[in-house]
Amino acid sequence: MLAVMTFVFITGLVVGSFLNVCIYRLPNNQSIVSPPSHCPGCHQRLGVLDLIPVVSYLVQKGKCRYCGVKISPRYLFVELLTGIAFVLIVTVFGFQFQTLLYVLLFCALLTASLIDLDYQIIPDQISLFLVVSGLILQAFGPPGALMNGVIGGLLGGGLLLVLAILSRGGMGGGDVKLITGIGIFLGWQLLLVCLFFSFIIGSLVGLALIIVQNKDMKTAVPFGPFLSAGAIIAIFYGQQIIDKYLTYF
Ligand SMILES: [Zn+2]
Repeated sequence: MLAVMTFVFITGLVVGSFLNVCIYRLPNNQSIVSPPSHCPGCHQRLGVLDLIPVVSYLVQKGKCRYCGVKISPRYLFVELLTGIAFVLIVTVFGFQFQTLLYVLLFCALLTASLIDLDYQIIPDQISLFLVVSGLILQAFGPPGALMNGVIGGLLGGGLLLVLAILSRGGMGGGDVKLITGIGIFLGWQLLLVCLFFSFIIGSLVGLALIIVQNKDMKTAVPFGPFLSAGAIIAIFYGQQIIDKYLTYF
C-alpha cells in the first residue's frame, strides 16, 4: 500500500509540475507543449535535472541554476498540493471511475484558480477541457452518469448566467463556463453542494476583505477559487452532506 501511495504521490508531483507550466503559459496564450521549459529570467532551456518536481527546487534553493533569479515558491506549492490531492482522492475513492474524474477536475480547478487570482480571468481552454472531457468520461460512466452530468452542467451554467446578468459583471462569463464544466463532472446534486459552499466561502472572504482592506462592494474578487473550493468540498463531503440532508425528509 505504501508503495502504491508513493507512486500516486510522485505521479501527482509530476502532474503538478505540468500544471505549473499551464498556469504560467495559458494566460499568455503560449502553447503548453512547446517550446520546452525555460527559465523565465534568462530563458535558458531547462534540462531534465532542472525539472525534477520538488527536488530541483530544493537542491537549487529556489533559484535558477544558470542566472540565479528567484523562482516563486508557488511552483513548489503547486507540485506538493497536487501530490497530496492525488493521495487523498485515491485514499478516499480507491481506484475507480470517480477517482479519474476527481483527479482531472482537481487539476483543472487548481490551474484555473491560480490564473484567476493572478489575472482575474479563467482561460476558455480550461473550461472547454472540462466540458469536453467531462462529457466523454461520463458517457463511459455508470448508467445515468451522463444525464446527471449534463443536468449538472446546465443547472450550474444557467444559475451563474442569471447571476452574471443580474450582477452586471460582478460574476463573469469565465465563472459561468467554469461551473458548467464543474457541473458535468460532479452531477447536479454535488453541484448544488459546490455552489452552496462557494457562496458561503465567497461571502465570508468578501466580507473579510471589506473589513480588513477597506475594499468596497464593487471591488471585483475573482470567483474561480471559491467555485473550486466548493467543488473540492463537494467531492470529499458532498455525498455525506446530501445523505444527512435527505434524512430530514
Ligand atoms: Zn535563469
